[in-house]
Amino acid sequence: MRPLDPATRDLLANSLCDVGRRAVAMNLSPGASGNLSVRDGATMLMTPSGVGLGELSPARLAALDARSGEPAKQQPGVRPSKEVPLHTALYRRFPEAAAVVHLHSPQAVAYACKQPWSSVSAIPPLTPYLVMRVGRVPLAPYGTPGTDRLAASLDEVPGQFRAVLLAHHGLLAWGTTLDGALDAAVEVEEAARTALLAGPDAQPLPTPEVTALAQQYGTTW
Ligand SMILES: [Zn+2]
Repeated sequence: MRPLDPATRDLLANSLCDVGRRAVAMNLSPGASGNLSVRDGATMLMTPSGVGLGELSPARLAALDARSGEPAKQQPGVRPSKEVPLHTALYRRFPEAAAVVHLHSPQAVAYACKQPWSSVSAIPPLTPYLVMRVGRVPLAPYGTPGTDRLAASLDEVPGQFRAVLLAHHGLLAWGTTLDGALDAAVEVEEAARTALLAGPDAQPLPTPEVTALAQQYGTTW
């Protein structure tokens, strides 16, 4: 595996710390929950275990092989999040993914504990914005946090997606940039909030409108 050159590492590490602070500022990361990664080629940088996303420092990010999750080199005092397998599963599945965001944002967690809205999406398309910016948000079955079984639960979700809910746990979103991955996570949290506020008798957008929006914006529903 080619190591990151120092300038690229600095750039990616600073972006990761910045996105962590923004996630906390938006109340998307309670306590020390959540983890982030960013990839350049075969190498990914991952947030450490047990450190809140608002307290990240560039020196304490772990460099790992983005496919296998193996550490890139000896990094004394650096312990990556236990959810490395979840991130590498997404990088293997979506080769265009360059960043992965996993959060326990409150409303997405609430939706991850409900029956999925339909067989294609756990969250209904109440407004156009979820369809335009993210697309469908399927539900992956429960797996114990930090295990290969949780990562393997993604295999049970067929098809394309930008974000997925992990049953009884949280959300996972990817992007071609870190900002894009965070934007998808924010949209999922907002869509879950709207759906909870609107209640069970809320009217989803008509299917032809959803189909037209997904086609126009290049998303999947
Ligand atoms: Zn988690």
